Amino acid sequence: MKLLEERIRRDGIVMEGNVLKVDSFLNHQMDVDLFAEMGKEFKRLFADRPINKILTIEASGIGIACITAQEFHVPVVFAKKAQSINLAGETYVTKVESFTHKRVYDVVVAKKFLGPEDHVLVIDDFLANGSAANGLIDLLISAGATVEGVGIAVEKGFQPGGKLIRDKGIRVESLAIVESMDPATGEIVFRKQ
Ligand code: 5GP
Repeated sequence: MKLLEERIRRDGIVMEGNVLKVDSFLNHQMDVDLFAEMGKEFKRLFADRPINKILTIEASGIGIACITAQEFHVPVVFAKKAQSINLAGETYVTKVESFTHKRVYDVVVAKKFLGPEDHVLVIDDFLANGSAANGLIDLLISAGATVEGVGIAVEKGFQPGGKLIRDKGIRVESLAIVESMDPATGEIVFRKQ
């Protein structure tokens, strides 16, 4: 998606440790007009799928997921990061390793919000090693729900997450795929899509 690529080029900051900082329009301050365009693009890409729910993970995925959900007219469920689980009977639980904080979290969704009748689009801001997306897919498998696809704003194509999820036979659509980025020069190269 050209608009997103241009914005990343203009305002994204390449950090050490393979982190792309997009705080000014996506991860801290949020450009909702840009989110609206992203939501329309996800709708176009997944128009053929019978999606009745969107699943994301707190916190950064929520904004994009909500605006995307307005296009599909479906509810959003966000998986919560928890330190310890004491509601195991009432929740689906999995573990996710945070890329940015290098910690492992329990991630939970209440059972009453996901079930076998659901056809779910997973939405997140970034795809890096794939732990977050994989954890969300895990929760959907536990619920017996159908994974209709994964929609990502920014995939870092030089990290293994995209291949990991696609190799499961799951459709992944990323609005921008970063092929390489250099913290020394700030140069960002996108994959042609
Ligand atoms: P993964 O689980 O695929 O390794 O990483 C995905 C999660 O880590 C996303 O939910 C996102 O919050 C965070 N993340 C991964 N890479 C980046 C990055 O380069 N920049 C930012 N801002 N967040 C990232």
